[in-house]
Formats: sequence, structure tokens, C-alpha cells
Amino acid sequence: EDDFQFIFCEGCQKELPNLKLLTCLHTLCLDCLSENKPIGQCPLCRTAIPQASGIPDVDNLLFTNLQARLKIYKKVVGGVDLFCDNCKKAGEFWCSECKEFLCTRCFEAHQRYLKMESHKATRVIDIRAGSFKDFLKDTGKTSNLSCSNPTHKSQIVSIYCKKCKRALCCICALLDSHHAPFCDIRSETQRRQEELGTLSQELKQKRSGFEATYAGLKDEATWLERAQREMRELIRQRVEQLVGLIRREEEELLGLVEAGQEQGRRELSRELERVEGVLRRMEAGERLVEKMNLYATEQEVMDMQPFIKDSLEELLQLPVTGDRAQPGDLTECRARLQAL
Ligand SMILES: [Zn+2]
Ligand SMILES: [Zn+2]
Ligand SMILES: [Zn+2]
Ligand SMILES: [Zn+2]
Ligand SMILES: [Zn+2]
Ligand SMILES: [Zn+2]
Repeated sequence: EDDFQFIFCEGCQKELPNLKLLTCLHTLCLDCLSENKPIGQCPLCRTAIPQASGIPDVDNLLFTNLQARLKIYKKVVGGVDLFCDNCKKAGEFWCSECKEFLCTRCFEAHQRYLKMESHKATRVIDIRAGSFKDFLKDTGKTSNLSCSNPTHKSQIVSIYCKKCKRALCCICALLDSHHAPFCDIRSETQRRQEELGTLSQELKQKRSGFEATYAGLKDEATWLERAQREMRELIRQRVEQLVGLIRREEEELLGLVEAGQEQGRRELSRELERVEGVLRRMEAGERLVEKMNLYATEQEVMDMQPFIKDSLEELLQLPVTGDRAQPGDLTECRARLQAL
């Protein structure tokens, strides 16, 4: 029975009648289809559903009938409420044509008096002893077709008209001379099965092409993902490297500014001291010359004048501005900053 999960709705996996077959060959129940969003697409493979209502026209008769048969099988195995559908005695047989349980007496009547010899009724005990697959095999494939003409319902269909592509009973075939050429219905169903088998084989080859494409696309996606990841990492590393370089340059430049400032300050204060000293010497010289002029004796002029004269002449030779670097020279810093 686990092999028969496929007979349920492919959307909700529930056992429900009214299974619809979509053009993509997925099978969905009416519940799934009516809740389906967006309307007009198979929820499993996105193939368009041509009907405006979003509900396909075609029933999955195979799965619906298999579900019905599974229900019968379970009922037989369960053994509860197994009554003859005619007289409500204990049901002993199952006729898959009439879809009825029969007691032994009704079974005999069914076989003889109702002329249903072609109906193959199965013993309930035999069904119970076998698997669902056995049940299907015993009651399944060879069930009789009924004529599409409603007044021939009880007629057995055994003929296929190739012209109108329909199954016919003997009466139809004899009454209407338009029908031809005929063939046996069994050979037609076999031909149709083989046709599907051939198409399926061709599709298998096509499928390997699609699978190769699929694998290729997957590879491409993986490759793209990896390339992007590597590029992101490369950018991150390079930026980190550059930030490091710039930080080092920052430190060096700040160091340069600091050192320049220190040197400038020292030179400036030395120069200040020098100029201050010169000014004081000049003041002293002026004062001494003034006092010499006012109070010196001739003897004192003779003794001191050469010495004073030398000192004043030396003062005259002193440069007005000292020899020192431009204070706080930031030219190099500015150039290196520009080059960053
Ligand atoms: Zn469903
Ligand atoms: Zn689909
Ligand atoms: Zn009965
Ligand atoms: Zn029957
Ligand atoms: Zn007919
Ligand atoms: Zn015909």
C-alpha cells in the first residue's frame, strides 16, 4: 500500500475524490486547486493552467479509480460491514464490474440468471489473503469497456473504429456502415500504451540533455558565488593594506611636524637670547661712551679708549639677523600630504 502514495493529491497528499490532471501531468485535488495562488499556475512546476477558473477540465480517472479500489480493498481487509449489496447478508464475493459485494446466493444469480458470465467476481477471502497489488491484478486491467452509446450500456465493447477513434460495441459496428477500418479494442489499447512508452523513451534522452543543462547552470551559479566571494575578500584585504600604509604615513608626518616644531622653538629662543645680549651690550657701550665724554681724565682716555674702541667695532660687525633655519618649515609635510 505504501507503493500507492502516488494515487493521492500531489499537493496535500490527502485521499480525496475529484483529482484533476493538469497539462503538466501533475495531479491535484479541487481543494488544492481552489486555494492555489497565484491562480493559473501549477503550484509544483509553474506550468500555466489554461482554464480561466484555474481548475483544469480533465479528471485523473486512473488515480480516482485506484483510490476507490483501495477503499474497497481496505474494507475487505478490515472485514467490517461487509454485506451483500442486494440482500444485506454477509458479502462473500466482489464483482469489480458491478462494483458490488455479493452473498453466495446473489453471486450465483449474478453469474447465471443475470447473464453476467463475463463479470469475474473475486472471493472476499482471496482478496483478504493477497496484497493490494494482487487485488488490482485480479480485478483490474481487463475490466470491460462500455459502449459510448448510452442505450448499449450492457453491450461489451470489443471493436475499435480507427476512423472516428472510438470504441464500439458489435451493434454499433454492424448498424453504421460508416465505421471502418476496425481493429480489436485490446490491440488498440496496447498500441496506445506502446505509443506512450515510446514517447517516454524519447523523453528520457531529452531529459539527460536537460539534466546536463541543469548541472551546468548549478555549476555556473556556484562559480559566480565563489568569484564574488573572492573579489569581496580581495577588496577587503587591499583596503586594509592601504589603510595601514596611510596610518603609518600619518604617524611619520605628525612626527615630522613635532620634530620641526621642537627644533624651531629651540632656535628661536637661542636667537632671542643673542639679540637680547647684543642690545644690552650696545646699551652698556653707549652709557660708557657718554660717561667717558663727561668725566674721563686725559690719562683715563689714553688708557681705556683702545679697549672700548675694539669692543664697539666688534659690535658694529655683528649681523642684525642670526643665521638660522626658517622656523616651522612644513614644505616637506605639505608635499608628502599632496602625494598621498
Ligand atoms: Zn490536495
Ligand atoms: Zn505541474
Ligand atoms: Zn445477496
Ligand atoms: Zn457483476
Ligand atoms: Zn454500441
Ligand atoms: Zn467510426
